[in-house]
Amino acid sequence: MAETIGIVGSGLIGRSWAMLFASAGYKVKLFDIEQKQVQCALKEIESQLKELERTKLLRGKLSAKEQLGLISGTSNLKDCVTGAFLVQECTPEILEIKMKALRDLDAVVQAPTIISSSTSTHMPSVLSKSLKNKERFVVAHPVNPPYYVRLVEIVPAPYTESWVPVKVRALMETIGQVPVSLKKEIAGFSLNRIQYVILNEVWRQVQDGILDVADVDKVMSEGLGPRYAFLGALETAHLNAEGMVSYCDRYASTIYSVSQSMGPTPHMEGKALEDIQRQMCERIPLEKLQERRQWRDACLTKLSLLKKEV
Ligand code: NAD
Repeated sequence: MAETIGIVGSGLIGRSWAMLFASAGYKVKLFDIEQKQVQCALKEIESQLKELERTKLLRGKLSAKEQLGLISGTSNLKDCVTGAFLVQECTPEILEIKMKALRDLDAVVQAPTIISSSTSTHMPSVLSKSLKNKERFVVAHPVNPPYYVRLVEIVPAPYTESWVPVKVRALMETIGQVPVSLKKEIAGFSLNRIQYVILNEVWRQVQDGILDVADVDKVMSEGLGPRYAFLGALETAHLNAEGMVSYCDRYASTIYSVSQSMGPTPHMEGKALEDIQRQMCERIPLEKLQERRQWRDACLTKLSLLKKEV
């Protein structure tokens, strides 16, 4: 019989997890505090699965109908978690809302069910310190849109039992995601820490009048981005010389002295913010954001297909 996974919160990310788990044959039970959200999620999942099948982008070996048959909704939290080996929490990122959802979940979960949170920003220890099931709490942070961007950051709290992140990592591999396991919690996890370093430097370059918004974004989309879609920063360095030691012999002192000139962390407000917003809106007016998101998702879909081939 298929193993069961519970999902608490059936918004954007809860729906994506439901589709990913079902693609690998897991039975999924979706719960939301708003019953209409569950109905809406089931409808949208159905239309997305059909469209993915039509365009030959459906993940896994089961048909869209078979995958849909594995996903059900419930208006009862206890029903959502009963028999589940893992519950994926996908409630809004607002701390009080998440803490309340986790307290409710904690009251109905029993060992050995894992509580896994999709949080993007909250430290696992902050979310779980008062839970009675805290030893089985872990963060599994996806990247949007998870169906096409496969990274999942797995982050334990200091007291999370060691088998928990191991089991979640294996689950992520089974469903075809690409997990990375942080050995301990840190603010921003890994992806956002790296993203913020990039964002800070891009901001400084515009603020200091080095490049305008359109050009600084090309440095990523036409320079670093294509390379980083396939290689990490360390492998890039290893290949750009005769290995890492050779790379550091050649470039470490330059990297150090340029890094020393980077300046303080910007506050991202005031005149620089107004200027960046104006330049961004000239390129992409706010009313065109949705259209541009659809274009981005279409590009990511094509990239994920290419990555499967290479
Ligand atoms: P969302 O607002 O689309 O959905 C949240 C859902 O949770 C809503 O349907 C809401 O009704 C429900 N909810 C609220 N309180 C609840 C409760 N007590 N019990 C059950 N359900 C409850 O949010 P989202 O974008 O899907 O984000 C969910 C989580 O995933 C957040 O922690 C977010 O940081 C994380 N995440 C989001 C993204 C993203 O790009 N959207 C990416 C990675 C991680």
